[in-house]
Amino acid sequence: QIQFADDMQEFTKFPTKTGRRSLSRSISQSSTDSYSSAASYTDSSDDEVSPREKQQTNSKGSSNFCVKNIKQAEFGRREIEIAEQDMSALISLRKRAQGEKPLAGAKIVGCTHITAQTAVLIETLCALGAQCRWSACNIYSTQNEVAAALAEAGVAVFAWKGESEDDFWWCIDRCVNVDGWQANMILDDGGDLTHWVYKKYPNIFKKIRGIVEESVTGVHRLYQLSKAGKLCVPAMNVNDSVTKQKFDNLYCCRESILDGLKRTTDVMFGGKQVVVCGYGEVGKGCCAALKALGAIVYVTEIDPICALQACMDGFRVVKLSEVIRQVDVVITCTGNKNVVTREHLDRMKNSCIVCNMGHSNTEIDVTSLRTPELTWERVRSQVDHVIWPDGKRVVLLAEGRLLNLSCSTVPTFVLSITATTQALALIELYNAPEGRYKQDVYLLPKKMDEYVASLHLPSFDAHLTELTDDQAKYLGLNKNGPFKPNYYRY
Ligand code: NAD
Repeated sequence: QIQFADDMQEFTKFPTKTGRRSLSRSISQSSTDSYSSAASYTDSSDDEVSPREKQQTNSKGSSNFCVKNIKQAEFGRREIEIAEQDMSALISLRKRAQGEKPLAGAKIVGCTHITAQTAVLIETLCALGAQCRWSACNIYSTQNEVAAALAEAGVAVFAWKGESEDDFWWCIDRCVNVDGWQANMILDDGGDLTHWVYKKYPNIFKKIRGIVEESVTGVHRLYQLSKAGKLCVPAMNVNDSVTKQKFDNLYCCRESILDGLKRTTDVMFGGKQVVVCGYGEVGKGCCAALKALGAIVYVTEIDPICALQACMDGFRVVKLSEVIRQVDVVITCTGNKNVVTREHLDRMKNSCIVCNMGHSNTEIDVTSLRTPELTWERVRSQVDHVIWPDGKRVVLLAEGRLLNLSCSTVPTFVLSITATTQALALIELYNAPEGRYKQDVYLLPKKMDEYVASLHLPSFDAHLTELTDDQAKYLGLNKNGPFKPNYYRY
């Protein structure tokens, strides 16, 4: 029995997005976060005609796409080739599964960032036998030349950088609503595509074998639907697989925190006093990077276990109020709200840099800074000076939104882990025998999580030790894994 969400409450009660443009409440937050992809070749030189008004065909005569400029395809192809070099796991997946084509017959409708890295994923899915139609999950993040390269290669892609809200939904609709083609798998990042199908074309779910969702927001929506008994197909929560969590939260933030701060402020870290609020995965990554550059790092925590971990790692655990007058940089990564209050901001020293690495832009109480006595000065893209009446300036980055997504790039290798997990989740859901997955949200089986990691090991020429029969028996394990119980904390 297919169940439909008759009202869209599940989708609309989630936090609205906080991007620079105020669009409809129904697009997920990630849709308008300004996500900095690699340099685009098309931004300044392209005309202002909307891609929807243009008649374009690729070199094979197909016009089954809508991108900014198909002539940029060659540039996009180079970008994809560069990304492929750090996404060898997907390339090896292509080679390993090419004979059997585990996605033969799959018709995947996708909505993700359209960048060189996702292009490698999309082309992998095609190489494994799938047909794909794709739109962008974010109105700013599309690399136009990459979209052109995909269109040139025959993928039905509908996306360009700087879409309006109307364009955003039009592109999704063009992927879903097609004569003679009906999707049987969904790959979503943020839940907007899933929302659109529920709202406009619920009958499509009769053919859908599963949804693979990548984002925190989208996964949250799926769990709400499941709780309300309205999820009508199995869904795979890619966001919470171990490899994704470790790489996205810990390693990605360790790599990108300094990049985001340097690009925006040119700050030197040696000897600077920095306070990091929250010592979870993201906080651990930020602290490790800052310490390595010689910064003096303080940590704030509410949880005694994480606080003790910070102590053991050599950080001073303090209350924010104890150090707020002396620190040069404040970084939030708690997932909480109002961690940095107006009172803290009032007490900061001149030129203190304030930024957020957590999901939501409520960690720093930015709203409290929009009062008449304070002057805002935009000094660079994503950098505001907030000036107090006595002349004191606080340097606010990305208006309190995620620093690394707003001001730096994310390493390709991190995206490779996510993309490989997505590809395996699609293969698993598409090929699962009837009854293995019900109308619920699932985590990727641990064995597949381990497989994602193992596909990335050759990049480091890492050699795994194999269990002997005797050792496997002693530990009660299968020699081929899974090697850890589900409750194991890595
Ligand atoms: P986590 O739960 O592992 O860590 C958060 C920590 O903050 C916890 O240890 C918690 O005890 C602590 N905390 C909560 N309230 C606090 C407060 N008022 N003061 C001090 N500490 C407090 O979560 P995580 O995986 O580290 O993620 C943190 C945030 O970063 C989330 O919002 C997550 O969505 C986001 N995130 C960002 C990126 C990125 O690329 N910037 C990547 C992944 C996750």
